[in-house]
Amino acid sequence: MHTTPANTMAPHDAIVIGGSYAGLSAALQLARARRRVLVIDAGVRRNRFASASHGFLGQDGRAPGDIAADGRAQLLAYPNVRWLEGRVAQAEAQVEGFSVQTEAGATEQARKLVIATGVVDELPAIEGLAERWGRSVFHCPYCHGYELDNGRIGVLAINELSMHHALMLPDWGRTTLFLNDAFEPDADQLAALAVRGTVVEAGAVARLEDSATVVLQDGRRFTMDGLFTLTHTRLASPVAAQLGCAMDEGPTGAFIRTDAMQATSVPGVFACGDAARAAGNVAISVGAGALAGAMAHRSLMFD
Ligand SMILES: Cc1cc2nc3c(=O)[nH]c(=O)nc-3n(C[C@H](O)[C@H](O)[C@H](O)COP(=O)(O)OP(=O)(O)OC[C@H]3O[C@@H](n4cnc5c(N)ncnc54)[C@H](O)[C@@H]3O)c2cc1C
Repeated sequence: MHTTPANTMAPHDAIVIGGSYAGLSAALQLARARRRVLVIDAGVRRNRFASASHGFLGQDGRAPGDIAADGRAQLLAYPNVRWLEGRVAQAEAQVEGFSVQTEAGATEQARKLVIATGVVDELPAIEGLAERWGRSVFHCPYCHGYELDNGRIGVLAINELSMHHALMLPDWGRTTLFLNDAFEPDADQLAALAVRGTVVEAGAVARLEDSATVVLQDGRRFTMDGLFTLTHTRLASPVAAQLGCAMDEGPTGAFIRTDAMQATSVPGVFACGDAARAAGNVAISVGAGALAGAMAHRSLMFD
């Protein structure tokens, strides 16, 4: 009779922290390798503001929560998977493996950890933006640009990085860059914007109204079909920092450093999804999660 080659003191072979797209995908690989997996999830996905998710093959246009719910149901069909709703507050390395504590006070142990906790978007402080986030204000053209149907697109600048949006978005519609006193394009940048057909509007943004109307402080109003802006991102969980994982600084915020196999700088700890990339989406998170899960399994076998 075959027995699962995983007998140590730890009750789980792996704990996956974060049970959205990346974490579900990692856990699925470990579950299918017949390992004892615990997923701990706080249930606060980054895309919970959007009614539809785009660009993930086979799931294009579905509600983001439905994609995650299907993934969770398929994962929980494996009897070697446990699910714990809650937020990990603390993680630490032990002599063999890792121990994590949840905010509710539960302590769980495993030989390996997969961190898939995502990021939090810190939105620009523009009146009316937060309630339109994911509905008519977005950050990712590939996710939500097509649905604007070649219409009027506004870019709300946060700094010079917004040039990237302003130069890309003409592929999705007639684009206006609202400088919002965030930066002043130089002559080369203005020339590049002109080549792409992007209109530039100077002046501070007072507020957003209606679906996507930009009201400037000088009273001018611009009715758009959709708006794009960049956010500052921060890791949704301090777990990687607590474990001493090295970080990298991306253009919008720090993320967990991983190698090509999703291993962090701490042996036995893997990371995937938005928490471990400068910028991500559902498809990339699922792919990275699959790799992290398989590499955590490899580490269980051979390290
Ligand atoms: C408005 C908006 C719309 C988007 N639309 C699209 C789209 O159309 N298509 C697309 O491909 N991408 C889209 N994205 C990007 C997409 O949301 C992310 O790339 C994706 O959610 C990343 O998956 P993830 O599993 O890494 O993280 P998340 O989906 O953010 O999930 C992280 C999970 O970890 C949990 N967690 C965090 N900390 C802890 C902790 N300490 N303990 C336990 N659990 C924890 C969270 O609660 C959450 O459940 C959109 C993003 C936004 C903001």
